[in-house]
Amino acid sequence: MKRFEWILFLALCLTAAAQTTSLPNQQPVIAIRAGILIDGESDKARQAQVIIVRGNRIESVSDAATAKIPAGATVIDLSKATLLPGLIDSHTHIFLQGEDPAQGGYDANILNAPLALRAARATVSARRALEQGFTTLRDVETEGAGYGDVGIKQAIERGYIPGPRLFVATRAISTTGGYPLEGYAPELDMPKGAQIVDGPVEARKAAREQLDHGADWIKVYMTHRSWVGKNGELVSQPTLTVDELRAIVDETHGWGRKVACHAYGGIGLHRALDGGCDSIEHGLDLDDAAISQMLKQGTWYVPTISVYYTDWAAADSPAGQRDRLRAALHEPSFKKALKAGVRIVFGTDMGGIPWTEPIAQEFSRMVELGMQPMDAIQSATSRAATMLEMDGKIGVVAPGAFADIVAVSGDPLHDIKVLENVQFVMKDGKVFKSEKP
Ligand SMILES: [Zn+2]
Repeated sequence: MKRFEWILFLALCLTAAAQTTSLPNQQPVIAIRAGILIDGESDKARQAQVIIVRGNRIESVSDAATAKIPAGATVIDLSKATLLPGLIDSHTHIFLQGEDPAQGGYDANILNAPLALRAARATVSARRALEQGFTTLRDVETEGAGYGDVGIKQAIERGYIPGPRLFVATRAISTTGGYPLEGYAPELDMPKGAQIVDGPVEARKAAREQLDHGADWIKVYMTHRSWVGKNGELVSQPTLTVDELRAIVDETHGWGRKVACHAYGGIGLHRALDGGCDSIEHGLDLDDAAISQMLKQGTWYVPTISVYYTDWAAADSPAGQRDRLRAALHEPSFKKALKAGVRIVFGTDMGGIPWTEPIAQEFSRMVELGMQPMDAIQSATSRAATMLEMDGKIGVVAPGAFADIVAVSGDPLHDIKVLENVQFVMKDGKVFKSEKP
């Protein structure tokens, strides 16, 4: 290269560098006026705050009286509303739609629906979650739709479709006799809603496959069928052995990921804890030993209360009696866990519940069972973020966090039900919904 070419090259490099360094200043700046701010972390709400959003991050949060709004900032006035971090539902199924038995129920979803139809419906579920202020979901398995959740997550991240941040579990793992489709002629080799394994070698291989294909979490079914036992107790059929589960947990932890375990109670729940599950899903029937083990191991508890109040079978049928017993056991289990200080995280099992219903109904259930409204909110914000290893990035309105912010009219600390009517949603610094309260 000749000398003047070098100079030209150098000049171009410097210009490029100057453009890059000036980029942050060119990012759009939004100033949001908040009437009340519940930041997801502090135990007290704050009055009259100004949140400065630059690009997709929160730059500052300050008292309105002293706040400096940068020149050229777009101002969004939510001074009559309560603002919170984008909410997190840590137990959903975007590939289920609360399958109506009259339309073939769960089985039709797997037997009749083309994958493209299921993906289209999952796209709608994701959008519904975002519309309701849920800017992050931990979606715990696709129910026979393979790695479809990885595809939906990519479509959201690349901007093709609107939706929450997704943490996906892909196919989930259970054992022979441990998942539908069931009840067909034994000669038929029916597809299953989860990946079926038997033995620690198959268990580890399934975890490897799912992690390799993009699972953020591994989901394991540690109990399956349940019924009312001889003495009126809830019996839950255990699935994986401790050795099988340990192979999965060991593999998954090696990848720096975590294991969510569906477990109702009894043998399966205790195996889940002995095998090192990171979160217990549902936990309908927690005995004292389970609660103390959860405390000792720091296990998360995602109770999903609401879903056990829907679609009860007739009261005089065995299934109907089982459905009622499940709800009856769930309440004291939740209360005991709450009192003992188990780390409770908000989860709904949406998909088990139709996506047309309000996701935030779970808050009311938690508060009715004795949880303080602020605690319930934190279970769906900062505490869920900690479980997802996203501390300070989501579930909080604070400098440096992603600008995931929602607003409601009214005060959820006085009436938790107002969270069922989210009127403003910002995700990643972009306004997705704005019906100004
Ligand atoms: Zn579920």
